[in-house]
Amino acid sequence: MQSFTHELDKIAITVKSHMLLKELLRENPELEEVMRNARNETEALIGVRNWVMPMLTQNQNAYKFYKNEAHGRAAFEKLSWKDFAAIRILDYIDNAGRQFDDLNLHGEKAISNPVKLIWLAVNFGTGGAKPYFFKDMLQLFRQLSGNGQRDLPDSNQLEQWMSRWSTGLDPRIVKLREENRERILKIIIDKIDRGDIKDAKFFFKDSMSQEQKYLEALEWWKSSLFHLRFAVRSPDLLNELLGNSLDPDTMKLLKEADELGIPFFVNPYYLSLLHVRVPYFAIGADLAIRHYVIYSKQLIEEYGNIVAWEKEDIVKPGKPNAAGWLLPSDHNIHRRYPEVAILIPDTMGRACGGLCSSCQRMYDFQRGNLNFKLDKLQPKESWDEKLQRLLTYFEEDAHLRDILITGGDALMSSDKSLEKILEEIYQMALRKKKANEKRPDGEKYAEMIRVRLGSRLPAYLPQRITPELVAILGKFKEKASSIGIRQFFIQTHFESPMEVTPDAKEGIRKLNSSGWTITNQLVFTTAASRRGHSAKLRKVLNESGVLNYYTFSVKGYMENNFNFATNERAVQEQMEEKAFGKIPDKYQDVIRNFPEEAENMTENIRDLMKKTQLPFLGTDRNVLNLPGVGKSLTFRTIGITRYGRRILEFELDHTRNHSPAMEDMDKVIIIESKSISEYLQQLEDIGEDTGDYESIWGYSIGETEQRSPLYDYVDYEFELTPEYSNLGVSVDPSTSSGQAN
Ligand code: SF4
Repeated sequence: MQSFTHELDKIAITVKSHMLLKELLRENPELEEVMRNARNETEALIGVRNWVMPMLTQNQNAYKFYKNEAHGRAAFEKLSWKDFAAIRILDYIDNAGRQFDDLNLHGEKAISNPVKLIWLAVNFGTGGAKPYFFKDMLQLFRQLSGNGQRDLPDSNQLEQWMSRWSTGLDPRIVKLREENRERILKIIIDKIDRGDIKDAKFFFKDSMSQEQKYLEALEWWKSSLFHLRFAVRSPDLLNELLGNSLDPDTMKLLKEADELGIPFFVNPYYLSLLHVRVPYFAIGADLAIRHYVIYSKQLIEEYGNIVAWEKEDIVKPGKPNAAGWLLPSDHNIHRRYPEVAILIPDTMGRACGGLCSSCQRMYDFQRGNLNFKLDKLQPKESWDEKLQRLLTYFEEDAHLRDILITGGDALMSSDKSLEKILEEIYQMALRKKKANEKRPDGEKYAEMIRVRLGSRLPAYLPQRITPELVAILGKFKEKASSIGIRQFFIQTHFESPMEVTPDAKEGIRKLNSSGWTITNQLVFTTAASRRGHSAKLRKVLNESGVLNYYTFSVKGYMENNFNFATNERAVQEQMEEKAFGKIPDKYQDVIRNFPEEAENMTENIRDLMKKTQLPFLGTDRNVLNLPGVGKSLTFRTIGITRYGRRILEFELDHTRNHSPAMEDMDKVIIIESKSISEYLQQLEDIGEDTGDYESIWGYSIGETEQRSPLYDYVDYEFELTPEYSNLGVSVDPSTSSGQAN
């Protein structure tokens, strides 16, 4: 490694890098002096430290934060803009020379030593640092010197940003989508007429006129089965249904994707949300949807070699997973925390209503564990027995109280399969409750109090929300409530305000009427990260009866490079946009009760928005779902590569319980797959004014927000056992907490 580093040190920097360096030194004479006087990199490091440290110690809170003696949100919020820069520079120095495996580059070594790179550039014109690196340094030292101030937006600015984004409820958008539907249906009718498509359920009688066929097809459009059967599975059909509007470069990429075996599955309803021409009144509004459907070059290049992001999903028989839990050896249960585990059924729930290009489970699609072979995903005879066995895991676990059924997509399961799963959950919860009667206080097990279904179908295919489904959900809620299950959540995933269509809104209304609370998890892709986009989505969802739950940074490595919005932008969004939705403390108890009155969700949300005068309820947390550690946005920027890609060190989210096995867990290093410059360039390419994002450079520290009380578990009236079951490591019960939230 030593010689490799030496080789890199000899690389000459480019003309552009030289120009940026010159600017850096002109703006910071003290830095130039340190660099010119240092005889080697060590002296450079000491010189910069001696210059910066006194600036930090002027603010004792910031100094303690840097030394890890002050933690948490309150300490974080006391940091000044300059403190962020000073802490980052000192962290760079403390971590100088560290090497990291860069999983974006299949494990190539990344070395961070920015001070050395500047020193080499100043004295020898070498070090190989790229312009993106120097741009980042320029901004960093401006922040330190006070030349780069942060202008926080006011509410008018936020309003203006939000007003740029149309929703799917805008009458002009509704009309455009109707035109799209007509175009798509006419092509499908034509294909049926020509015999290109044959379907036992969806066909026309010979005697029908073209008009009658169209009216019949409009009826089909209301059925989810139609959309699943007629989902697009090839690039050519995709283009045809989009009025041949895709350009040849995109088509070439999509064909490559097809040849590589990346599944295509775009149902006609979802396809109708895409514009074939950019409407003047909603320029760029459908991009977050479009980027979910059209695969990126990076995804195509990486497919086949995608590495699993979730370490805790790797389950070996008899061995604890990365979070320390022992699991049944099948791949049906995933677990990270003490209170909750995920159940993935062997049913149609292994599919989705579409394939999101930045899917967190792309690795599972790659290995065929999740797929769109809908005919083959019918539950097998043995599933009933297996389901019971899997649920025994929940029944016999001391701390599990929350089950999340997902997939794929939980609502892709048929009504019959879903009803069966819910019934078995009810029976399991009842047995667990009864078994507790015999246990004394202090030895009792957690009883089931929350059931969740993970589904993106409210966005992908709202036609799935039928009266029959609503009846199943309502019946289950009624029955399960009588044995103490209190929280019934449908965890959905809307990505864009443009997905909130009249059909989606009606689906949400129906789900709420069954007494289930709908919460949203947004994935913060580049298009979704544009100023005001997430805020607008929060607003339209709130107004439709949905609560916001998480805003997730894009997971994964190079395959998701295109859609990845940097974590600095996630912090900026949290501090500068979502902050306007902060619910005053006095209303926290009001909101806590919302899930118990889910039937009145829309009215309750609207009332609270009116009383508080908030544009939306900022009940979601911006986080990254980390490999092995879970959700967190608690990080420090401890390094940067020659290419300007930042290296972040994440910590556990200290606001929630973790497996005792995680207490001593190392911090997690994430090397971002793009530099801030590249991200801003991408925003510019999609029409954004990068001046609006200027403060992004400075958000080098993150701190996970406190969870909204909405999502707290209700307390038990008895005392739980401090013992853990299904834990593959030994723990001293006296140091572990039995009560969890
Ligand atoms: S719905 Fe969820 S699981 Fe399915 S493809 Fe999209 S992100 Fe992945």
